[in-house]
Amino acid sequence: MKTYNIACIPGDGIGQEVIPAGQTVLAALAAKSTEFRFDFHSFDWGGDYYRRHGVMMPADGLDALRPMDAILFGSAGDPDIPDHITLWGLRLKICQGFDQYANVRPTRILPGIDAPLKRCTPAQLDWVIVRENSEGEYAGVGGRAHQGHPIEVATDVSMMTRVGVQRIMRYAFKLAQSRPRKLLTVVTKSNAQRHAMVMWDEIAKEISAEFPDVHWDKELVDACTARMVNRPASLDTVVATNLHADILSDLAAALAGSLGIAPTGNIDPERRYPSMFEPIHGSAFDIMGQGLANPIGTFWSCVMLLEHIGLTAPAKQLMQAIEAVTADPQLHTRDLGGPAGTAQVTEAVCQQLHNK
Ligand code: ATP
Repeated sequence: MKTYNIACIPGDGIGQEVIPAGQTVLAALAAKSTEFRFDFHSFDWGGDYYRRHGVMMPADGLDALRPMDAILFGSAGDPDIPDHITLWGLRLKICQGFDQYANVRPTRILPGIDAPLKRCTPAQLDWVIVRENSEGEYAGVGGRAHQGHPIEVATDVSMMTRVGVQRIMRYAFKLAQSRPRKLLTVVTKSNAQRHAMVMWDEIAKEISAEFPDVHWDKELVDACTARMVNRPASLDTVVATNLHADILSDLAAALAGSLGIAPTGNIDPERRYPSMFEPIHGSAFDIMGQGLANPIGTFWSCVMLLEHIGLTAPAKQLMQAIEAVTADPQLHTRDLGGPAGTAQVTEAVCQQLHNK
């Protein structure tokens, strides 16, 4: 029997509710198998850890994660700690430390979910957004001088490298090629940003030559938001910069029904390091501790985790169990207009797995 080591980092807010729920469904899946099992390793990093130690995670934290097969992450965010500290001190430290340069965000309207686009059937909204996850607007390049004085200056420089753009484009073209429609939209803003984004466009064109069977087009990020709403079926795989994709994928999640459903994987395609899977929502302090958090985004992230570590059939089983549960409106959490809580949805998914 093969053992997979999974690091669990619940982090803050509802992360502490949805990650244990994710462990419960993964354990239920493994309980049925004679071929694999999971060893979960929990790390208490996040806001409370910061209050005790002055850092979001220990200096040698990456060393503890390195031998893991994958990481399941909840959320980092705390009402009493500035957002840039929680983000840079934990999630980005792991993403950038492990060079998880491809952030993959699938969006679909799951069965039973009432999505806000009235003229769109579930079949017309099936997207994967690929977010450049290692540089661009999140490169961390910039600074502040003359702090507090009238002449204060602050800069954030978006930095793009040829290698960084090439590798994310190649990843996105390859992903588009693996999907039935073989369709890729490259999101840009090269009309206004005439250096890095122009190089981004040029490299997209260069890489496209390696994938002659992929149809691709270019779209300005502002126009892309309108296209997502007005012509959702015209999109399939989408690649965008770190910031553009961050914004587009929140829109995508909302269009598919709720932020609580959407999953993501921070992937090191070269598999030098463990990849990290997480729901796209944040800590949602407004509902924490009440058992109201929708765990579906975490469960779908677990599906991505299973696919990544090669457990394809169990991944399919879990996705089917999730879809059977979302199909029943009585099993929807409050964000979807339903009466169920985190525990009830978790139990229902486990029950589905058990019945298979
Ligand atoms: P952060 O600063 O950590 O990103 P946030 O509270 O600003 O957190 P989200 O956590 O993404 O942002 O939450 C935005 C809104 O969506 C909140 O009102 C929250 O209650 C709701 N929400 C987010 N995730 C879920 C979920 N899994 N289940 C139910 N509601 C959710």
